[in-house]
Amino acid sequence: MSVSQTIVLASNNSGKLKEFNTLFETLGITLLSQTKFASIDVEETGSTFVENALLKAREACHISGLPALADDSGLEVDALQGAPGVFSARYAGEGSSDSDNNRKLLDAMDQVPEGQRTARYWCVLVLLRSVVDPVPLIVQASWEGEILARPRGEGGFGYDPLFWIPEKAMSVAELSAQEKNRLSHRGRALHMLIEQLR
Ligand code: IMP
Repeated sequence: MSVSQTIVLASNNSGKLKEFNTLFETLGITLLSQTKFASIDVEETGSTFVENALLKAREACHISGLPALADDSGLEVDALQGAPGVFSARYAGEGSSDSDNNRKLLDAMDQVPEGQRTARYWCVLVLLRSVVDPVPLIVQASWEGEILARPRGEGGFGYDPLFWIPEKAMSVAELSAQEKNRLSHRGRALHMLIEQLR
């Protein structure tokens, strides 16, 4: 896929812009924040991560006239038939905090025995060349783990204190930031996208 040297990142998060730009620099591509163009808060009405990422990318394309990159991510728990899924950020209700969401997850998993607590983080990235791009570039990566019965560690964000990585014998909140970036759903999806753009 050939894209221009400037892409808009469909996010209002400056930390994410910095993290993504570090990788895109190697391709000679600069990511601009969508906040340079307008104040955007897209309602995530899709039932899938792909739909939500597309909604966000299309809006960023629309307001900037530039290609746009969006990500959407969340947690899928097998014993909860895939929940919280696209509701990960608002599992305990609109405006809920990480600790509200974690408490709700612990309650929901209360009766689930060890061995049946498997889960994964997902990250979907969508790159749209224009608002009418008929073939968006879509990559997705997952990160397998298990849901702990009580939180461990202080790092990361969201569900990280409850997300156990068996190969590391640590929760994600106990991993260093570098280790998380190397192994995570988001880090791996970004590397896959970069490889496709090379
Ligand atoms: P998004 O901002 O719409 O992609 O929502 C992502 C939500 O999924 C976050 O608010 C977290 O609840 C959860 N999530 C996604 N990635 C991670 C992660 O790396 N660690 C912990 N929680 C995550």
